Amino acid sequence: MLQKVEGIVLRASSYGESNKIVTIFSRELGKRAAMARGAKKPTSRLASISQPFTYGYFLIQQGRGMGTLQQGEIIDSMRSVREDIFATAYASFIMELVDKLIDDEAPKPQLFEILQQALHAISEEYDPEAISLFVEWKLLPTAGIYPTLHQCTNCGATDGEFAFSFSQIGFLCHRCFSIDPYIIRLSPSQVKLIRTFYTVPIDQVGKLTLKKETKGFIKKIVRTIYSEQVGIRLKSQHFLDQMEKTPEFFTPHKEDPSPEEE
Ligand SMILES: [Zn+2]
Repeated sequence: MLQKVEGIVLRASSYGESNKIVTIFSRELGKRAAMARGAKKPTSRLASISQPFTYGYFLIQQGRGMGTLQQGEIIDSMRSVREDIFATAYASFIMELVDKLIDDEAPKPQLFEILQQALHAISEEYDPEAISLFVEWKLLPTAGIYPTLHQCTNCGATDGEFAFSFSQIGFLCHRCFSIDPYIIRLSPSQVKLIRTFYTVPIDQVGKLTLKKETKGFIKKIVRTIYSEQVGIRLKSQHFLDQMEKTPEFFTPHKEDPSPEEE
């Protein structure tokens, strides 16, 4: 059976001398691996379509076992994502997270939408670190975690000061702080930001410019949920951590530096 799907290449690995196994996350079928014969040869018509991050239409011949990628049509090659090391690092992290969280072949159209919007935003030069945070918060339900962020998890109050509680997986209001000794106190703007990350669709958020510390703080919370509650740690995170610690090592040397500020 020949199937045409709209998808994104999550990853591609070498198979034999000239083939690749491509893992495609598609709107219609969910995650599928397909053999791309000859795709390692630069002259192959499958060479460009089988690169990670590529968004396009894929024609897959489905038989018994793994399908075969017959041909593809690129909608967006995500070249700008691939050409920037920061964009590549965050996009790889997002891909790995999606890949880890879905293991069955059932369609996940909402998840597909999130991934597609995230890649598009990164290719449009939105802050990839912020986009990755959007994805991390939004994918929590896919990981089986449903944080309570619209009210206090304990008493249901919607007013007052809030803190994040890992034991309650959500917000606690100041009246209920005492039920968890390890709460993380949040400012009103941090509360608002976490709600935005979790609920507002990526394509409806403008270019958010967030302070490094703000991103770091909110990232710590979501990464702790993934490592402690979901039990996943991603391979690409190590590189990302290094890059975030010493971004100057990864920033290309500029020929014409801007004048120093007084
Ligand atoms: Zn409360």
